Amino acid sequence: MPIINRLLKLRRHLAEKEIDAILISQPENRRYLSGFDGSAGFLLITGNKAVLATDFRYIEQGKAQAPDYEIFQVTGGFEKWFLGLINGLGITRLGFEGEHTTFVTYRQLKEMLEKLEPKPKEVAVVGLVESLRAVKETEEIELIRRAAALGDGAVEHIEDIIHPGMTELEIAWEIEKFMREKGSQPIPFEVIVASGPNGALPHHKPSSRPVQCGEPIVLDLGAKIDGYASDLTRTIHIGRPDATFKKVYRTVLDAQLAAMAIISEGINGGDVDKAARSHIEKAGYGEAFGHGLGHGVGLATHEAPRLGPGSTDKLVSNMVFTIEPGIYLPGWGGGRIEDLAVLIDGKLEIISKAGKR
Ligand code: ZN
Ligand code: ZN
Repeated sequence: MPIINRLLKLRRHLAEKEIDAILISQPENRRYLSGFDGSAGFLLITGNKAVLATDFRYIEQGKAQAPDYEIFQVTGGFEKWFLGLINGLGITRLGFEGEHTTFVTYRQLKEMLEKLEPKPKEVAVVGLVESLRAVKETEEIELIRRAAALGDGAVEHIEDIIHPGMTELEIAWEIEKFMREKGSQPIPFEVIVASGPNGALPHHKPSSRPVQCGEPIVLDLGAKIDGYASDLTRTIHIGRPDATFKKVYRTVLDAQLAAMAIISEGINGGDVDKAARSHIEKAGYGEAFGHGLGHGVGLATHEAPRLGPGSTDKLVSNMVFTIEPGIYLPGWGGGRIEDLAVLIDGKLEIISKAGKR
């Protein structure tokens, strides 16, 4: 079981920060560190203890999914049981998830710690579990590959059946149905189908607009296997594409290839973004590429590392991330190409296999 290894890594980082214990409740972090995928519960991890605090609904599930954890049954709100959980553990510095703890929970936490003697200090921890999650284990990469293969298959399927007059919603449903029938769990994000002018909105929601010949059609989709997501974008057309399509598509593809070409062990996410962005700027579309180049993918569709302007996130082996430049022209539409990639022994490997034009 890799859970023990994950805990080992976490404890090493906590020791460096002189933190005795950490409280985790963000769902993906909780699942990553315990194996438990229920919708409610806190993990308390100390130097030699790992406790899953959850309610009646999840006791049996917790025992089965998190065998490395003691199970602590809670009743009522956080303030009812928290002291019972940490009392007597001798914690002097307690970490909590700075980005995910609500203000109300934080206030309750502070009030309760006041009651302990000596009073432990609460320490906001930001991005720690996320940084561990960014570097994948072999088994995680395998699950992402399987999810990506379903996305590849869905694009191929749509290219076979798409025809003028089909609506964006119909196309989105065909994509979703295909992936679910081939074994995807509920998909990690709503399928994007953005035809013609709608493509100028990077995250357009599928509508009842019928697709037409020659216009760009942006498809952005992902599947999920055993909790792990994939993420893929292709821009397609029916019949003969217009001249703008050819120019936009070529520019986006070349920008993507330029980014891929410079990726190696230790490069900054910001530098990779710049390689793609400067290509798009030179073609005169600088203003039309308004989002970052890519993001990590795993238990969450968007996670660390970030590939975008100014990002200092270093890309290292076993990170899985997207490379997705795009050009958006109001009135005409959009062109985006997104591939999922992994660094293996410092070499970039493209996971997505869906064809490009
Ligand atoms: Zn996407
Ligand atoms: Zn993406």
